[in-house]
Amino acid sequence: MYQINAVHLNKKELQNTFYQFFDLCFLKKSINNDTNIFHDDITLIIQGHTKIYKGINNIIEELKKFLLEFENEDFILEEININEISSDVSYISSIIKSNYKTLCLTLVMKWINNWKISHIHLSSDITSNKTISNNDLEKLVKIRTSELLVKINHLEMAASLDFLTGLYNRYKFNELLLNEVNFAFNNNTPLSIIFIDIDNFKLINDRYGHLIGDQTILTIANIIKKNINSNHICARWGGDEFVILTPGYSSNDATVLAETIRKEFINIETLNHITITASFGIAQYSKGDTIKLVLSKADLALYKAKRKGKNRVEK
Ligand code: GH3
Ligand code: MG
Repeated sequence: MYQINAVHLNKKELQNTFYQFFDLCFLKKSINNDTNIFHDDITLIIQGHTKIYKGINNIIEELKKFLLEFENEDFILEEININEISSDVSYISSIIKSNYKTLCLTLVMKWINNWKISHIHLSSDITSNKTISNNDLEKLVKIRTSELLVKINHLEMAASLDFLTGLYNRYKFNELLLNEVNFAFNNNTPLSIIFIDIDNFKLINDRYGHLIGDQTILTIANIIKKNINSNHICARWGGDEFVILTPGYSSNDATVLAETIRKEFINIETLNHITITASFGIAQYSKGDTIKLVLSKADLALYKAKRKGKNRVEK
């Protein structure tokens, strides 16, 4: 059972989570996963790496490697900025300095009984005080570099994540879809795609307002996340529509997953006792299909599910 509640931003607790992370990484320099500040679906991006790291243990390992470079340096937290995205998603961007480096750390936080870190973005500049003289021009360059790092962080995140749900956005999904289609093509492995669209969502917005509409989208996203595994790629396709890519799954496997999720949606307990249902369209990639074709097959299946009365899975 899921409860849709409006959650209010608590800036003090938000900052506490940030400081706990900063403390572990940059003061104690001993990061491990025996804290409850991490969201189960945490991701990490390190500037310059092409990969998005997932899974808390992998992320801790990567953070340790990143921090190894700075093990003999003392850090200070120079600046932090809090940005509220919605009532339960916020991000804090910060500038962290040692004698030799400027780091930019951004944490995306989600409220789940407390603020949990759901995404970490780390980047460092390449300037070193050791080699450049300390004049006014240098100071100005450093300030500009810091500002640019913050902007790059924001842009990289905005380019790949949907801020309401923390899922990938459509742009990032298309990039990942291309990789998975290439993999399926080269390795002759199955690949399926599931489109999900909430039924009669306009009515929910009209009757209960946009805030409850947003909370509904968030609840739906959380149920999807809970049911998929780490190989699956899920995105908010737009509005009330989601998409799941299931590498290794035939359309029959994807149907079983879709049915599980569909049944969970019916059990959502809303404040207003409204029943929330969704329709699902499934397509399996066939060798040689273009991206456009496989997407349109899933979209047609979704259309079929809507036409046949909604709250159902079609392929
Ligand atoms: P159907 O069963 O055919 O899908 O009907 P529907 O009412 O769900 O229609 P449709 O999917 O076309 O409507 C999507 C609506 O979602 C339209 C738009 O007002 C609303 N919407 C889109 N994005 C957001 C959002 O971020 N928050 C909220 N609250 N509403 C959104
Ligand atoms: Mg809809």
